[in-house]
Amino acid sequence: MDNLSHVKRRTKIIATIGPACADETTLKAMVEAGMDVARLNLSHGTLEEQIERLGWLRRIADAVGRPVGVMADLPGPKVRLGSFDGPVELDVDDELLLEPGKGPSTGERFTVGYDSLLTDIHKGDRLAVGDGSIVLEVVDHTGDALKARVLFGGTVQGRPGLHIPSDRLKLTTPTPEDLRLLDAMVEADVDMVALSFVRSAHDVRRVGLEPAPRGPLVVAKIETRAAIENLDGIITESGAVMVARGDLGTELSLQDLPHLQKSIIARCISLGRPAITATQMLESMISAPAPTRAEASDVANAVFDGTSAVMLSAETAIGRDPAHVVATMASIATRADQEFNYEGWGRQLRRDHLNERQGADLKVTDVMTLATWQAAKEIDAKAIICISRSGFTVRAIARFRPQAPILGFSPEERTMRQLTMSWGATPLKIDRIDDNVVTVHTVLERAKAEGHIRTGDIVAVLGGSSGTVAATDTLRMVRCP
Ligand code: ATP
Ligand code: MG
Ligand code: MG
Repeated sequence: MDNLSHVKRRTKIIATIGPACADETTLKAMVEAGMDVARLNLSHGTLEEQIERLGWLRRIADAVGRPVGVMADLPGPKVRLGSFDGPVELDVDDELLLEPGKGPSTGERFTVGYDSLLTDIHKGDRLAVGDGSIVLEVVDHTGDALKARVLFGGTVQGRPGLHIPSDRLKLTTPTPEDLRLLDAMVEADVDMVALSFVRSAHDVRRVGLEPAPRGPLVVAKIETRAAIENLDGIITESGAVMVARGDLGTELSLQDLPHLQKSIIARCISLGRPAITATQMLESMISAPAPTRAEASDVANAVFDGTSAVMLSAETAIGRDPAHVVATMASIATRADQEFNYEGWGRQLRRDHLNERQGADLKVTDVMTLATWQAAKEIDAKAIICISRSGFTVRAIARFRPQAPILGFSPEERTMRQLTMSWGATPLKIDRIDDNVVTVHTVLERAKAEGHIRTGDIVAVLGGSSGTVAATDTLRMVRCP
């Protein structure tokens, strides 16, 4: 694999780190196979373990010479079962007891980490275990436990989540525990933070972080009915959004899920936020060496839906060959990128979104990125170079899904790492932003030295007129010297 192989892929890859890849050799192999962002799920393992992994990832990114983003996923008010001592098989019509508590679970008796289980859950409620394939129905209330029957069976292991319908659940996100974990991860300089079970823009505001790039980019996980109702407000308040299909598919009807995925992604892109598609993308590769046909199609279709990134969960966290899964995901995504309708996206964005009323600053960004997209298209530019301190303009140009590669130059390391999640963007470092003439010269030399462009190529360069003005107000079409 040549060292620019990751540049040709426009769709980014996020992989969850777990016991199957908790060593530097495997992590390095995953980065080399195309992992752009590593996800540390704080619902599993210890905080110390996750912070240690963050350190490994930083070292590996340095060694490989490519920024790797690190995303901490906060548990949120997710109810989990007490841990199982090994895999347990649940068959249809099996009966079991659910009781509140923290101890271990067995096949006959699940302990549930939710104190008001017995008052909030009623006879007839359906509860999903794990990512939703196992479903229980509550058939009786025995006083100190709930009796449930298995409607759809499967294997449970570890500490699986128990999905309680969100209108039954009294807890809100972020929880005090989330805020404690968040403090530690911000201290460890994490790049992105995912917030589980968001229901409103207010939930996102309660995270209370400094705006990116100083603070981590906040990723709102869309997985409740309320989040669908308050979607625009949530997206506007967030740095990125994740279509968390596990819980979302349980909370709403499964037949609605593919369509929700499309509309959430489309809305995110028009608002200039990266969208992530997550859960069960290559699920069978937890144990199989190749994905199913349906899974290969799912990944490609998420790309066609416009997703910025595709995510791996258990496939890499507990799968048999995490680096191979990443490589498989990368090859399906790269192939789908080739078939992507680049023209159509930009045109649709222009038609549907850029006429909406909004503030003056956003208008300037809109016209500058629109002009860049159009000019690059007209002249068939070899690259769109974007000089940006915060990464905001890079994300705004990515909305158009231009055919030309986007080179995102920033003097901020954290911006570079946050851009690892953005569609089509290759993050590159610049020492500082000077006046436009000097800076454009510097970035062209740098892009040429790294093999992104060649002498004679026409390139669109979007940036500011000087290092002191924050606005992105200058577009230049230049021939690479
Ligand atoms: P979420 O709802 O936040 O996605 P999840 O339980 O579905 O939580 P994932 O991160 O999607 O967890 O990972 C899928 C599975 O991989 C988990 O159910 C768990 O068994 C395993 N896993 C993930 N991370 C870890 C870890 N750090 N340690 C142990 N097991 C893990
Ligand atoms: Mg979840
Ligand atoms: Mg999951």
